[in-house]
Amino acid sequence: METVDTLIVGGGLSGIYAAFLLSLKNKSVVVLEARERIGGRILSPDHRGFHADLGPSWYWPAIHPKMADLVKTLGLIGYRQFEAGMGCFQRSNSAVQIVGGYAMEPRSWRISGGMINLVTKLCEHIPDNTIRLNHPVCQIEKTATGAQVSVGELEKDPWSRFSASTVILALPPRLAAATILFTPDLSHLLTQAMLKMGTWMAGQAKFCALYEEPFWRQRGLSGQAFSERGPLGEIHDGSNNSQGPYGLTGFLGIPAVQRSQQQRLTEAILSQLAIIYGKPAAQPTTFFYQDWARERFTATPLDQAPMVEHPRYHPPAGKTSFWDGAIHFAGTETAVQHGGYLEGALSAAERAVMNVFKG
Ligand SMILES: Cc1cc2nc3c(=O)[nH]c(=O)nc-3n(C[C@H](O)[C@H](O)[C@H](O)COP(=O)(O)OP(=O)(O)OC[C@H]3O[C@@H](n4cnc5c(N)ncnc54)[C@H](O)[C@@H]3O)c2cc1C
Repeated sequence: METVDTLIVGGGLSGIYAAFLLSLKNKSVVVLEARERIGGRILSPDHRGFHADLGPSWYWPAIHPKMADLVKTLGLIGYRQFEAGMGCFQRSNSAVQIVGGYAMEPRSWRISGGMINLVTKLCEHIPDNTIRLNHPVCQIEKTATGAQVSVGELEKDPWSRFSASTVILALPPRLAAATILFTPDLSHLLTQAMLKMGTWMAGQAKFCALYEEPFWRQRGLSGQAFSERGPLGEIHDGSNNSQGPYGLTGFLGIPAVQRSQQQRLTEAILSQLAIIYGKPAAQPTTFFYQDWARERFTATPLDQAPMVEHPRYHPPAGKTSFWDGAIHFAGTETAVQHGGYLEGALSAAERAVMNVFKG
């Protein structure tokens, strides 16, 4: 069994940022990440230098200071979301109206090289062998000196175990309560609070189509569109900052239960894009589709229903830690401010690291 000072469950932004902060303080850390990749809800596949942000695309420097500082510290290049030109509005009968474009307020910024750059750059400052991919945590047990964490599948024998004096849970609390066995049992109150805390955007799906030319811009369109008809409900220009390929990216406007037939959905999306932006939109060089509701390391059955409003997030049942300080919550859904956003992932990680040192 491997023993370290701190184990971090989850290699999304919150977990990787916590690992970065702890390694600056010379603590021995291991990040256990269930997927075969880092980033969690941040996902930016690359196609010929184009990074399709299938999770978060934006940060808002005017209101998210930690994100703005981190982008600067890591030497990343931020650029403003392209919004110049007119917008489109598609009615339920499919008719498209050209409407005055409006800039999002506060202004949205993207990161050159895709949002994943934030996480990969942080990893450059984390010692080798800290991050263990394909390590799904299935059980956490309290011990006299902290906690023991098992990796693998509960029904079968876990395939490895780790022990640490502190564990940081850097995954959505709802997912932790639904998929990890805690021994001894967590209180009913804490479990309920974790389950009630919906995972932000977990029920969403995103589509991104790539083109050699930004033909919508040439027609004076910003790329921004809203649709009553769907399948995409909201569309934006998703292009790189300097050169092509160029992209149109959109959120599916239909609930997760109606998204099972991906082939038909894709055809419907491409024909919708052609109706809104003209024929070339039906023939992208390539496209990406990501349905987060079908991702077992993001969404649970409770996350399938679309969220109507942005929840007011806070530490579950008011607790930032439990088991006498052996386990600490990180993850954006536990942030007091900006919960659900990248900014919340950073502040929850900072709080967890501070609590680890307080003991
Ligand atoms: C489509 C979409 C669009 C978004 N747009 C924006 C935006 O524009 N701006 C913004 O600020 N935010 C946006 N968000 C939210 C943003 O993505 C999150 O705030 C942020 O990525 C959360 O980071 P996290 O580390 O807290 O959680 P996650 O990214 O969910 O990381 C949790 C990690 O834990 C891992 N994990 C899960 N279970 C286990 C287990 N049992 N064992 C080990 N590891 C496990 C997961 O694989 C994952 O890597 C968007 C999200 C989505 C899905």
